[in-house]
Amino acid sequence: MTTINSVLGPLDTAELGFTLMHEHVMCGFAGVLPNYPELLGDNMMEVAVDDLKKAKAGGVDTIVDATTLDLGRDINLLAEASRRSGVNIVACSGWWLDVPPFFAGIAPDQLADLFTREVEEGISGTGIKAGILKSASDLMGVTPEQEVVLRAVGRAHLRTGVPVMLHSYSPGQVGKQQLEILKEEGVDLRRVKMDHSNDTTDVEYLAWLLEQGCYLGMDRYPGRNVSPLARTKTMKALIDMGYADRICPSHDRLVLRVMADNPMISEEERLRINPHGFLYVKEVVFQQLREMGVSEDIVSTLCVNGPRNFFEGV
Ligand SMILES: [Zn+2]
Repeated sequence: MTTINSVLGPLDTAELGFTLMHEHVMCGFAGVLPNYPELLGDNMMEVAVDDLKKAKAGGVDTIVDATTLDLGRDINLLAEASRRSGVNIVACSGWWLDVPPFFAGIAPDQLADLFTREVEEGISGTGIKAGILKSASDLMGVTPEQEVVLRAVGRAHLRTGVPVMLHSYSPGQVGKQQLEILKEEGVDLRRVKMDHSNDTTDVEYLAWLLEQGCYLGMDRYPGRNVSPLARTKTMKALIDMGYADRICPSHDRLVLRVMADNPMISEEERLRINPHGFLYVKEVVFQQLREMGVSEDIVSTLCVNGPRNFFEGV
């Protein structure tokens, strides 16, 4: 039996059920909620709870919330949303892409101490513990500042045993660099999940990542630049290679976010692109996989086995 940290306390991995491994209940920037709540729209909590209740009714049991402190993580909001919706939520520690200039000269161990505290003691003095660690790099590759964070995340992982999720830029194969650094830190790559892996259709690269031992977050749906169908064909190729239990489909969806006036990203436009919310994978992607010939046995365990294996360190 493996127990992980959810925002409502310890959770047995047997209870994870249908799990979306990379989502955001609320995502903005550090301090947005206490200072500029109007940017996040009206009736925030009601909107979040309604959205999560729909997911729960549709069969989603657990989500991993990938919102770090710099993305505006609010641990009390996550706990209340989980309590009221019935969806298990796992919160994360670590850092996203924009490492602040004030971190200049900070050592990996200094950051690792902070991340470790969020896993072992709790976040913001609440006692609510992070269940996953996150580091991020994008099309610039691993910048020197991000390397410090990545090493810190690797060290916090080694101290706590909590697994690692990596925001990555798969079209540039940035994962190779990230894994190299974690290997230097002595991290077993079976405890690592390479996220945004379905932003590429390069099956050879993705299979290479899987061969290194890590899990893949096929976690952008519907996503941009690569069509949803192309994403699903890529996933089908990996399933055919025997990797169904090491891939984690998800959406990278933001329920509450900074409301922009730009009509390209209005609520209406978001709804037009994905009227299914957190059920897009279940209702659209799984149907595509069935039509491509993937068996029901595999489809029905796709968001179950991968997440559970990842948390259990299989
Ligand atoms: Zn995300």
